Amino acid sequence: MGRDITYRESADLVERAAKGFQKLGVKKGVRVGLFLPNCPQFIICYYGILRAGGTVVNFSPLYSVPELLAQVEDSETDIMVTLDLKALYPQMAEVFSQSRLKKLLICRFAEMLPFWKSLGFQLFKKDMRSAIPKNDDHVPFSWLIAQGQDPQPVSTDPHADVAVLQYTGGTTGTPKGAMLTHANLSINAAQTLYWDPSLKPGEDVMLGALPLFHVFAMTLVMNASTLGGAKIVLMPKFELEEALRLAAEHKVTLMPGVPTMFTAILNHKDLGRFDLSSLRSCFSGGAPLPAEVKRRFEAAIPGVIVNEGYGLTESSPTACANPVQGKQKPGSIGLPVPGTEIVIIDRDDPKKTMPLGEVGEICVRGPQVMKGYWNKPAETAAVMEGDLLRTGDIGYMDEEGYSFIIDRSKDLILVGGFNVFPRNVEEAIYKHPSVQETTVIGVPDAYRGEAPKAFVVLKEGHDLGDDKLLAFLRDHLGKHELPREIEFRKALPKTMVGKLSKKELVAEERAKYEAK
Ligand code: AMP
Repeated sequence: MGRDITYRESADLVERAAKGFQKLGVKKGVRVGLFLPNCPQFIICYYGILRAGGTVVNFSPLYSVPELLAQVEDSETDIMVTLDLKALYPQMAEVFSQSRLKKLLICRFAEMLPFWKSLGFQLFKKDMRSAIPKNDDHVPFSWLIAQGQDPQPVSTDPHADVAVLQYTGGTTGTPKGAMLTHANLSINAAQTLYWDPSLKPGEDVMLGALPLFHVFAMTLVMNASTLGGAKIVLMPKFELEEALRLAAEHKVTLMPGVPTMFTAILNHKDLGRFDLSSLRSCFSGGAPLPAEVKRRFEAAIPGVIVNEGYGLTESSPTACANPVQGKQKPGSIGLPVPGTEIVIIDRDDPKKTMPLGEVGEICVRGPQVMKGYWNKPAETAAVMEGDLLRTGDIGYMDEEGYSFIIDRSKDLILVGGFNVFPRNVEEAIYKHPSVQETTVIGVPDAYRGEAPKAFVVLKEGHDLGDDKLLAFLRDHLGKHELPREIEFRKALPKTMVGKLSKKELVAEERAKYEAK
């Protein structure tokens, strides 16, 4: 059992942190980085920086030194918060010695032990305390919260002042810092609660397994559940056994996740061992939720609804959701959240709106759309069509206003002149009862330009040859959609937030082709 921290206690710690940050020079226009896994200090520092008037810059805890350096310099971050662990501190110490960073704020792993007494994650095995120099550049978290409780009041213009610089994943091109204002984020937290307006303060319990540095968890797990008064059961990272154990122990009612999390839960060998009867609502976002996974999950845990929503870094992120109290449409990303418009434009003529039911590029207009990319006016102009955000996702809207994503335009496969949407092929593969997970990409093809290739993970104990799977797919797919090749693997690459990631597979295939 971990230690609980009440809202009153955390509000006090946030006030103290704000005062401490102000003493370190944080004010409007000063950017402070968070290089932390999920931990109570993440939440305290995040709100403390905002309360002090500064801007938060989130850094992925898995970033390498060159990636960290690039983001520190691009964002013009001055102070960095990190943890005295072998997995984090040495990288940040190297970045510190080579960059513009002026101060390192060091949280102590030992101070977190009461929270995670029972957890045995590898990440947390090595404490670096003795290796951390004692000098003015290194400020302990204990100093930060010992400076008093009365930060200077800060006047904020919610629509102009940037609360968070949130970097895009960088799957194409260099990462860009989306400027999310105080209004963007607070409004999106409120809009996201629409996903489940039945949330009861003091009663609902949310599993916080998604990484808080990612926009999905930042808004949903941290900001929306704080606004709604839910209890957050914070995990340093998603680990299947531990997540199920904690969900049962804390009687978790709400579980946000990416589709791979729900697939992993579904495929647990002994799911019945965990009492998940308190669970009522799961939010799936960040990547397409295969209709098969939604159906099977809802059948496996009676009384649970898996709601699919949609968003992106540039829209803080939530733009659409299937309402809990309303009509759910499997395979759809739902209705625009309040105050938001979804517009499907013609990709070749962005001034033209597509009629209902016809495919085009999904655009978002609403108070959650970013102010622009930090220091990148050309990149901002490329995605903003007036106040409409072009998402790069292809889809359509039905007569009832529900939108459907077909795929990301950059993942489209051009097979001998035909457009193949990998998502279609993936949905067909998921229909096979032996399949646990799949990703489809386009690979170079001498005759057709490109051809689909499928990577498949089978369920434990299942055996399936590519000939059998292909025979099955012939009943579900057109000729040009059929994978040219199927490769079975033990695991597939995933991003830090847990989304299946295509870029590693694309690079591998390109290298193989070029070596031929
Ligand atoms: P990120 O900015 O890293 O959060 O990634 C945003 C992208 O994730 C979107 O542009 C979509 O391509 C994808 N995405 C998010 N939610 C969904 C969903 N429900 N279905 C399909 N794709 C999604």
